[in-house]
Order: sequence, then C-alpha cells, then structure tokens
Amino acid sequence: RSTHQTETRRRIVLFPLPFQGHITPMLQLASILQFSRECLAGLLLEDSIEDSVACLITDAAFYFTQAVADALKLHRLVLRTGSPVSALVNGGLTIFSEKGYFNIKKEDPDYEASVPEYPFIKFKDIAKITPNPHGFRDLITNIVRQTTLSSGIIWNSFKELEEPKVETIYQELPIPSFILGPFHKYSSASSSSLIEQDRNILGWLDTQAPKSVIYVSFGSLAHITKSEFEEVANGLVNTDLPFLWVVRPGLIADTEWVESLPEMFLERVGDKGRIVKWSPQQDVLAHPATGCFWTHNGWNSTMESICEGVPMICSPYFSDQPINARFVSDIWKIGVLLEDGLQRVGIEMALRRVMMDKEGEEMRERISCLKDKVNLSLKEGGSSHRSLVCLVKYILSF
Ligand code: UDP
Repeated sequence: RSTHQTETRRRIVLFPLPFQGHITPMLQLASILQFSRECLAGLLLEDSIEDSVACLITDAAFYFTQAVADALKLHRLVLRTGSPVSALVNGGLTIFSEKGYFNIKKEDPDYEASVPEYPFIKFKDIAKITPNPHGFRDLITNIVRQTTLSSGIIWNSFKELEEPKVETIYQELPIPSFILGPFHKYSSASSSSLIEQDRNILGWLDTQAPKSVIYVSFGSLAHITKSEFEEVANGLVNTDLPFLWVVRPGLIADTEWVESLPEMFLERVGDKGRIVKWSPQQDVLAHPATGCFWTHNGWNSTMESICEGVPMICSPYFSDQPINARFVSDIWKIGVLLEDGLQRVGIEMALRRVMMDKEGEEMRERISCLKDKVNLSLKEGGSSHRSLVCLVKYILSF
C-alpha cells in the first residue's frame, strides 16, 4: 500500500517450486521481506515507477526462469532451498557419473569407503542421491549454470553452522550470496502446510517427561517399503520409549496408511506412542518433551532440529539428504546415521545411543551450541541479520 498518493512500492515476484519443502521457505522469505522493519521501510520509501517489478525470486530448480528474466530485462535472484553442504558436491556429479560412483552396490568393496575427491562423504552416500544419475547431473548442471547468470543467490542457512570448506561455495560463485537463514526463526510458524497438521498431539506431548519422546518423520516425499515400515515399528516398540510417529498417507508403498500394522503392535504401544498423519513439526521440535528427531534430513527438517537443539537419528532417502545426514553424524556430530538402512536392531541401538547414552548427551550439548549460534546470527549485528540488510539494500539498488 502507498504511504501517500505519490509514493508507490515496487513489487518482488516470487515463484516457489510446488513441493512442501520448497513452498515453505519461499513463503517464509516473502514474509521476511515484507515484514522485517527495515525492509518494509526501505521498500515504502523507495521512489519508483508505479507498479514496477523490482526483481523475480525463483526457486533454483526453476533454472529456465533466468531466460524469462533476461527477456523481460528483470533481475532474478535464486532461492536455494536445499543445503549449502550438498552444493559442495555438485561440482563432482560429472566425475561420479563418469567413474560409475552412482552405481556402486552394497556388495562392492568400496561401498563403505570415503570418496577420494570428497573425503567427507562415502560411496554409499552417492549411491543414495538419485536413481537417475544422468537426469540428476543434467538438472544440477542447468541449475548451477543458470544460477551463475542470475543477480544473486539466497541460502536458507546460517554462516556459523558450516565448516570452512562450505565458505568456498559462496566465494567461488561469481554472484553475491546472501546467507540469511534459518527463515522460520524470523516469525512464528507459517500456514504453508499442504497437509493439515494434527495439533491435538501437542496436548499429548504436554503429558510426557522432558526430553523423553522420540519424534519420527520422513518429510513430504520419502517412501518406504512395507517391510521397512515393520522394522521401524519394531525398533520403536522394542526401545520402550514414548514416541510420536508421523505416517504420512502415501509414505508406505502399496498401503493407504497404517493398516498393515499388526494389532499386537498397537496393544503393546498403548498410550506410550502416537501415530499422526502430519504434525505441527516446528512446535513438536520446540516442545520440551521432544528428546530426539528421527528424520530423513530434508534441509528444512535438519535446520528446524538444529534451531531447537534436538539431536537427530538420520535415515536419508535421496537428493541432498544423504550429504546432510553425513554432516549431521560425522562432521557436526549431532546425530547418528542409520548406516544400514531401516533394520530393527540398528534402529534400537541408534535410539539408545541418542536417548540414553553419554554420547547422546554430548550430541545434545553440541547441538545446543549451534542453537545458540543460530540465535546470535539472527540478532542485530549477527551474520544472518547483516546478510538480510545487504539483500534489502541490493534489491533496492535494482
Ligand atoms: N513438516 C510438517 N509436519 C510433518 C512433517 C514435516 O509440518 O509432519 C514440515 C517440516 O516442518 C518441514 C517440511 O514439512 O518444514 C519438510 O521439508 P524438508 O525439507 O524437511 O523435507 P521434504 O518434505 O522436502 O522431503
């Protein structure tokens, strides 16, 4: 809205990729730009032509929008919703493809070994990235190429989280990087959920002891087989700890919802566990009763867990998730990776390590430090805050 008759605002047009993990951060970014005080004031005071578009902000995967922006002579900023740590290996995808790294199977002797070109990941992590290596490599190549032609890139991360090696990603790009996350910490939970969140579950969490509940969710896209589902169920029930388990309709192959669970399971669980179709995840992670997050390590989930200081158990499914999980377990040491997939014995061991052992306590301490760093980065003078101010100034200069 105009402050008076002669002043008009310029618009920023945002295009999210239509998936939950992409829509949410784009809408969060929109509200950050709209409501951060200095942004609003800046945009309101900007003297400009009526109804003009200042720039497009499009999802990195919409790489073809660079051509549209060029044709319309508009600036395009790219929102990268995935993790910066996974961007580290983007440059290696061609090598992985040429050297057949994507095809390494469990039986191969190298499966557990570190990748020589990127020693912080293992061959088994690469095998999980995609079932379609050529398609994936081409997609990422296009994303990188068109991103480097854009006016800048916005990351939903914070500088203090990352290892010095991630800095090189930002420095090597020929365009400005704005690292101003985690977006969801700027305002309270948004209403961008595509599935209705079961908020009743928060009342049940209120009745549980502090840090006692295992929260399980594999996000909006992952799929598991019926037998993996059984392993998860058995792993949970055998641990005998309270749990909140999100079973999204469609999560389990060839199954509507939880009908394949044996009656016995529900009897054994009683009031100790709850299964919901979709949860208010940010509230669950912020709840004092939540003790760990068993996650697929989508980047939003990973950031949300870090922001609440909740250690993780990692079951990555695909895309950037295996790299995120490797960083969580081996580099940041704030979680345990289920190295052998979903098997009840490994699950029980991992849950005990995080929930009961000293090791879990140490992970909790490390992730609490990261949580403090997040809060500092968002305060005035903090790295994310400064990056946001730079972004606003940059947009106003267009
Ligand atoms: N989410 C939620 N309720 C759930 C599970 C997930 O609200 O029961 C939200 C979660 O907070 C996150 C998003 O869905 O913001 C999932 O994004 P992520 O990048 O973690 O994974 P994806 O769904 O893209 O695989």
